[in-house]
Formats: sequence, structure tokens, C-alpha cells
Amino acid sequence: MQATALTHLNIWDGQKHLDADCIVLMDGHIAHVGAAADAPAGATVIACQGATALPGLTDAHVHMELDPNHRQAPKETDLGQRPHMEERAKAMVCAGITTARDLGGGAWLELALRDRINAGETPGPRLLCAGQPITSPRGHCHFWGGEAEDAAAARTVIDRQVAHGVDLIKVMATGGTMTAGTTPMDAQFDLETLRAIVGAAAEHDLPVAAHCHGTAGIDFAAQAGVRTIEHCSWVGPQGWASDYNEEVALRILERGVWVSPTVNRGWQRMLDAKDPTRLHRLRHAYGRLWDLGVPFVASTDAGIPGVFHHHLPEALNVFAKIAALTPSQTLQTATSGAARALGLEQITGRLAEGFAADVLLVDGDPTVALDALTRPVGVWARGVPVVMP
Ligand SMILES: [Zn+2]
Repeated sequence: MQATALTHLNIWDGQKHLDADCIVLMDGHIAHVGAAADAPAGATVIACQGATALPGLTDAHVHMELDPNHRQAPKETDLGQRPHMEERAKAMVCAGITTARDLGGGAWLELALRDRINAGETPGPRLLCAGQPITSPRGHCHFWGGEAEDAAAARTVIDRQVAHGVDLIKVMATGGTMTAGTTPMDAQFDLETLRAIVGAAAEHDLPVAAHCHGTAGIDFAAQAGVRTIEHCSWVGPQGWASDYNEEVALRILERGVWVSPTVNRGWQRMLDAKDPTRLHRLRHAYGRLWDLGVPFVASTDAGIPGVFHHHLPEALNVFAKIAALTPSQTLQTATSGAARALGLEQITGRLAEGFAADVLLVDGDPTVALDALTRPVGVWARGVPVVMP
């Protein structure tokens, strides 16, 4: 198999800068990280002066099925989305997103897309897919078909997802904004039911991602032992981010749960707002979680109105400013940290020998200024060149 040697690089390996300037890709994997002089003879050499190499990015919350141009929530799955889903997947890898977790669709179209990408039939990120989210009757995103009134019904929904080959289970632990008649603040399931859902998923070795806006739902999800809490919006009677609760935060920490804050680039409006109340509340909540040691995984909820699938690079810059994280901390939430959150830490998220050749080259140093992420000059997804320097 032909090796490719990328030389003259600045390398950030997912955690730190390396004293190395060359990465060798072979057979879909990283064969060598070190000095250009040690690259194997016969390798195709690509000099990448001025570029920084980092692991391909992960967006831990997307919906491949949803068209961000639609202003309304769908009433059902639009099967006509299939070709557009492939276009979205291609735009994502071209932007350097080499892994994404799909947290909900109605007809398993995203699983078919995942399989086509894995087979090399169409370019795209490595996808982990949840299929139909479990929700309460007429609850958040019920139009996707995952309604369950109790633990037994939830088990039936899980069995159906397993039969379709999902990689994880998604549960709507609270209401949401996208579905009329549900309220973000309110829990949709009690603790006992959430525990039963996590237990039933675990029987199939599947982790659970829980959609949680209100504090009660966040608390139940943490106690039930989900893998990730999506949104984690701390919605209370005073509105978004108004109900941060330190005891709940400590339970999130104790249970080793990851927080996936779904910050999209449109949240820039909070940084620009005349009234900084919501920004201050968010910064307080994120700041406390971070100081306690709760791990974050980068996510955007791409597919919802106005949130495009390939905009994670811009979103990370907004996330950093809202949560007051350094560029390196932010990058970890989308690379090495994301891989741990998704159970892929042996596979991706690092530039090291043996890992998948998920490599992003950007113009400039994103650990100095994250806007370098918006200037991708090279992308390899599992060794397949998508953007060539
Ligand atoms: Zn979502």
C-alpha cells in the first residue's frame, strides 16, 4: 500500500503540540509521527509549509435527515432527503469533520448513509447513529416514531432500533422547542423509567444520549447513568440557563457523564446581545461545570433550522467565547475528548501511530486562534483524501 508523508507540519496531536514535523498515512491509518527523515522510502511526500495538523473534528450531535433550510419542524421523515444527506456528509468532511454522532431520525436513512460511507461509496464522516429517539406519547420529536408511555414500551422502541443496527440509543428526557405541545423545562420520563431505558440499552452494549433542557430531566439523566447529556440548558421558571444546580452538577461529575452543549455559530447573537443576562448565566453554568471537572464534548445540533452540518469549525470559536475556554481546551472537546465521549478513544481523536488517518490540516495555528479552523487546506477521513493541500 502506498504511503503518504505529510512534511513541514506544525502538529497538535489532540492534546498537545509535538516536537515532530511529519505524519505518514498508510492503509487508512497513521503509520508514523516524527521526523521527515524517518519517513519510509517511496512514500508520496506532500510538503505542508505553514499548516497545522490536528485530528479530524467530531460533532457529537447532528441530524443528517434534517434540512437546516426548513424553518419548521417536519411532521414526518421526508424520504426525498436521501441525496441531500449525501451532500451534507460531503460538506462535513470537506470542512474537516471526520466523525459525527447522529442523534435522531425517523426512518433510519442516516444508518444507510453510515453504511455507504463505511463502504467507501460516498464521502463523509464516520457516523454513529441513534435511529428513532425514545420519547413520551406526543412528546418531543414524536413524529420520528419512538413514542413510549412506559419502560416496557421503551424496550420495544430499543429493540426496533437494535434490529436496524444503531450505535447508541437516544432518549428525550425533557420536552423541546421543536415540538408544539412540549415544554423544555418539563421531564418526559421519571427516574425509574430512565434507569430502565439505560439498563435495556446496556443489555445491547449501547450507550444512551439524553436530550435534557430542564434541570429535573438533567438530574434524572445523570442519576440514570446516561453517557451524554445533550443541551444541558438548565431551563427553569426564569428561562434558559436560569436554573443551574450545583448538586445536580456534582451528580453529573460523579456518574462520569459528558455534557454536549450543542452550541452553534448562531449563538454569536448572545455575545452581541445588548442584554448580557443569558450570556452571563450560560458562562456561569459552563464555568462551574468545567471547574468541577465535568467533561464537555463539542456539538451543534446541526439540521435544526439555520444550523448547517458543516459549520462546527465556526461554532467552536463561538463555544470557546461563550464558555470562556482556551483554544486548546475547545479543540480537545472536538478531538481527543470527543473520541472518549463516544467510545472511540482507541480509534480516532489523536494523531498517533495506529490511529485512524483522520487528519485535518489548517492554515495557521488553531491553538492560537480558532478561526484557523475555517481555513482547511487538507483533510483525510480514514485515510481517504477529501481535501488535498
Ligand atoms: Zn438534536
